[in-house]
Amino acid sequence: MATTITAPQQACVSTPTRMLINNEWLPSASGKTFATLNPATGEELAQVAEADSADVDTAVAAARQALESGAWRRISPAERGRFLTRLADLMEQDADEIARLETLDNGMPFSVARMVAVPLTVSLFRYYAGWADKNHGKTIPMGGEYFCYTRHEPVGVVGQITPWNFPLLMYGMKLPPALAMGNTVVLKPAEQTPLTALRIGELAIQAGFPPGVINILPGYGPTAGAALANHPDVDKIAFTGSTEVGHSIMEASGRTNLKRVSLELGGKSPNIVFADADMEQAIEGCHQGLFFNQGQACCAGSRLFVEDRVYDQFVEKSVARAKSRTVGDPFDAATEQGPQVDATQFNRVMSYIDIGKQEGAELLTGGCRVGNNGYFIEPTVFANVKDDMKIAREEIFGPVMSILKFHNIEEVVARANNTSYGLAAAVWTRDLGKAHAIANNVKAGTVWVNCFEVFDAAAPFGGFKQSGIGREMGEYALQLYTEVKTVIMKH
Ligand code: ADP
Repeated sequence: MATTITAPQQACVSTPTRMLINNEWLPSASGKTFATLNPATGEELAQVAEADSADVDTAVAAARQALESGAWRRISPAERGRFLTRLADLMEQDADEIARLETLDNGMPFSVARMVAVPLTVSLFRYYAGWADKNHGKTIPMGGEYFCYTRHEPVGVVGQITPWNFPLLMYGMKLPPALAMGNTVVLKPAEQTPLTALRIGELAIQAGFPPGVINILPGYGPTAGAALANHPDVDKIAFTGSTEVGHSIMEASGRTNLKRVSLELGGKSPNIVFADADMEQAIEGCHQGLFFNQGQACCAGSRLFVEDRVYDQFVEKSVARAKSRTVGDPFDAATEQGPQVDATQFNRVMSYIDIGKQEGAELLTGGCRVGNNGYFIEPTVFANVKDDMKIAREEIFGPVMSILKFHNIEEVVARANNTSYGLAAAVWTRDLGKAHAIANNVKAGTVWVNCFEVFDAAAPFGGFKQSGIGREMGEYALQLYTEVKTVIMKH
């Protein structure tokens, strides 16, 4: 699959490639750099500073200084909100370039980067700008000679560790609530996709954020990420990524200073289609709910349960839709699906396809690589998938649809819940009773009814069970970045 980098696309790569500490662009202490690649071609885009524990120490010290000096916390909350609004405005002005950079680094279609990732990220900055002066405490009636009130204070120095699948959106979900509440941040973006984080850092300096408030350290997980998670002077870690690393973040917190931890982890989300659903709507919705972003979404509807009465018809039409999905150059306006993010993910997805075949699932379309360059995979559909197959239990994180059959509502609720994950679920039906039964009984942080992967800055997102701890987006996320202090005063 050949894609050519045009001059304006290449120009985006002139974005900063060093670490951002104290509003300065620094090389790593070791002097090491690492390559970030264009997944559409496999070619190097840029060499980026590789942070490690010495750099984490420096960045945490800068964030601590910005916090304790009051450079950020003592700015009035409304003014903090205005910093976020200014940054949102700058991102919006720069939207085309940021979207290009995201597509070059991550491989998502430019249309998705420009129409979904950038606007939703900007809206998150604006949404939390509005909260900056509204997260206030309470006065509590104690009676007698006491007056009691609560103060909502920042947690402190916050480490944020993000994945590569929706880089920008992750910065939108994590940076603004932390900053609005008066915390200072050390952000470690995923090693596969560090470029848009660095661009946001550049815009944050333009927006006037004081030194040390936003620090950005590109680097690897087991080194820079682990150093942040283990750091005794970090008060909180917000992490999005695999459940396995989520466990290690919790352990690091327990071993060190009981830093607050919020986690948004993996999923194996049930997507349930009843026979009474609007079939055309359900087929398209389930298609997008699985294949969106090359299947690289933690909430992908990767266990697709279809009622037996319409199973064959649904499978046939879903296969036809998957066959018509346009895979190719992410900068082509007609492209629906770009490459997987890197060779590791490509190989992982291909090995799940092999496992599906070996386990006896019926491969009805796809299953192969597309082209010879980059990491493109055919939209793949397996039918007759059984609950105990690996492809129905483990997160594939690729364009692989598994369609299972069910007979009635009690059975499908039990099967939907038979997983250690609980991130999201969806139901397709015209029957309100069934919609409520699924919404009430499936253990998942988000349930979509007759839609999928609909997000809004104000709507909370996060997981039950091993899909995570805490809720990002919306008002609930303020709790992740707030310590409550009780003050009791004698009259
Ligand atoms: P994936 O397998 O999808 O890459 P990971 O959970 O490995 O997901 O990565 C998500 C983020 O966590 C990335 O920024 C990565 O660098 C970081 N990370 C990976 N391993 C660790 C670790 N041991 N400690 C802290 N962060 C880590």
